[in-house]
Amino acid sequence: MHFCIRDDDTSFFTSPEELERVYGVVSRWGPISLAVVPFHRAGTSKAVPDQFRGRWTVHPLHENRELVDYLRTGISAGRFEIMLHGYYHDEPDGRLEFASAAQLAQRITDGRTYLEDLLGTTIRVFVPPRNALGRRGLRALARAGLALGGTAGIRHGWPLLSRQTWSLWLRLRRWRESGGLGVPWVLDLGDHREIPGNAVTPAALLQYNEAVFESTLAMGGVFCVATHYWEQAAPSRHAGDPPVGEHLQRLIDRAVSNPQVMWRSVGEVVSDSAVVA
Ligand SMILES: [Zn+2]
Repeated sequence: MHFCIRDDDTSFFTSPEELERVYGVVSRWGPISLAVVPFHRAGTSKAVPDQFRGRWTVHPLHENRELVDYLRTGISAGRFEIMLHGYYHDEPDGRLEFASAAQLAQRITDGRTYLEDLLGTTIRVFVPPRNALGRRGLRALARAGLALGGTAGIRHGWPLLSRQTWSLWLRLRRWRESGGLGVPWVLDLGDHREIPGNAVTPAALLQYNEAVFESTLAMGGVFCVATHYWEQAAPSRHAGDPPVGEHLQRLIDRAVSNPQVMWRSVGEVVSDSAVVA
């Protein structure tokens, strides 16, 4: 089985200490794929600190020199992969950047080049802010040759006239109807690939994620965690479940204790995995 960890929302507002607290030890066992916001707008995201939230000022990543140095070091050590997480992340009036804003292709090109140059790396994966994507956003990332961290689906941009769309749709429907857990594949839409995430958040159930992990392992599939460094101390919304950080740790323990699990970056798994639907 392929295992990977996607962590969203690293930006100007992130301190190296926050990332180090969560991933300092863990990233020595396997790479963490960070979805990074190039020019975070201080809107309503919970990742924006209280003193900035709602100011709508724009904060380029390079203005946090300490973080840039930390990321560059982590990338060269193979501890971090960088993915593109929107451009501004937050849009005024509750709009969703990659479901409604204009010039998405430009934002992808500019945001990607900026991060690649600043951090000295190559970006292969795009993660839409708030997991919200529209048809134009999906087309823009496919044209840029990027993979999608997450899944778009029919309602959010899979081309309606493509045979691949409907055969995939049918396969996933049959999988669910037969009691299949999670989506244990990388999805190939022809012009781009998608890698579904298994959320590790306060709303997620540990028992469910463990069941998905085991069923994916049994079939030699793909299991990608999707979480937030800023939420690791948050309690679960489910009575009896551990806080987010411990939930993540339990899944990591399963992954590292099993020699059948190959822990790779999201970019490697989505590009190279043979387990494709
Ligand atoms: Zn985000």
